[in-house]
Amino acid sequence: MPEPQSQAGRTAVVTGASSGIGRAIAERLAAAGAHVVLGGRTESAMNEAAARIEAAGGAATFVVGDVREPGVVQGLIDAAVAATGHVDVVVNNAGIADFGPILEGDAERWRALFDTNVVALLVGCQAGVRAMRHQGTPGHIVNVSSVAAQDPSSGVYGATKHAVNVISRTLRLELLEDPIKVTTIMPGVVATNMARSLDPSILTTLVALSGLDVELSAGERIPDEVLARAQAALSEFAARPEDIADAVLFAVSQPAGVHVAELVVRPNKDLQLT
Ligand code: NDP
Repeated sequence: MPEPQSQAGRTAVVTGASSGIGRAIAERLAAAGAHVVLGGRTESAMNEAAARIEAAGGAATFVVGDVREPGVVQGLIDAAVAATGHVDVVVNNAGIADFGPILEGDAERWRALFDTNVVALLVGCQAGVRAMRHQGTPGHIVNVSSVAAQDPSSGVYGATKHAVNVISRTLRLELLEDPIKVTTIMPGVVATNMARSLDPSILTTLVALSGLDVELSAGERIPDEVLARAQAALSEFAARPEDIADAVLFAVSQPAGVHVAELVVRPNKDLQLT
């Protein structure tokens, strides 16, 4: 008998799988038996994640690309179909953050935020649903939002996540006659590379909490060990990427008649970052 959460025989595309939450989702779905297609810009990180998945007996393919570029998200869906003949789960997770004041922002940054967090997610929803409809099989779209979508004054980043929630709810209504589910996951604070976008003083505190002697410059990728140690030190205030991955696996493992539409996954206590 397969495990209740088995994803054996399914193919899952995960955007933003080179790091943090997306990487944990890809590894969790692969451990549950799915063939996963990882998308991201950092080839070395996806190569390592795919190698780990395969070493554990799973199956993974990765595609390097910027989701803001035309054709890149569609290319992930196509890669899934080329590798396995089908796509069953699409996790639109790639995202960037900016917690700065609106009055100090600029149009180029706002475009990057909306193109990454909203437009690429829309393309992923559409391309995933089209492929699932073409196959005539059940499917699942998972959109990674944020608790910022529950806060009406959460800045430009929060505005992109409000958009994600609206898109997910609308898509769910458009798909009522299809066997395709739509789930929105709203994480609270999770220890990931998104910390790159925080105030440098918070980043310095994070490194200090890790107890490691590491110098980081602005925007640089944070070593996994720093994040894991800082998370352990802050475990009441920051969730692990794996906690969000468990929520995704829960949502995509429900029986046909159960539609987990929204999940909020917070650490025990909320960390005020802004
Ligand atoms: P990370 O920075 O660790 O991961 C972000 C991922 O998105 C990376 O794989 C990154 O790839 C990818 N990505 C970003 N921009 C692009 C792009 N233009 N093209 C392709 N890939 C891209 O952050 P998280 O894991 O924390 O973030 C994942 C999601 O979770 C985001 O949507 C975020 O908004 C959401 N979230 C995070 C929270 C947190 O506290 N961490 C809380 C709530 C929501 P690469 O590095 O290779 O460019």
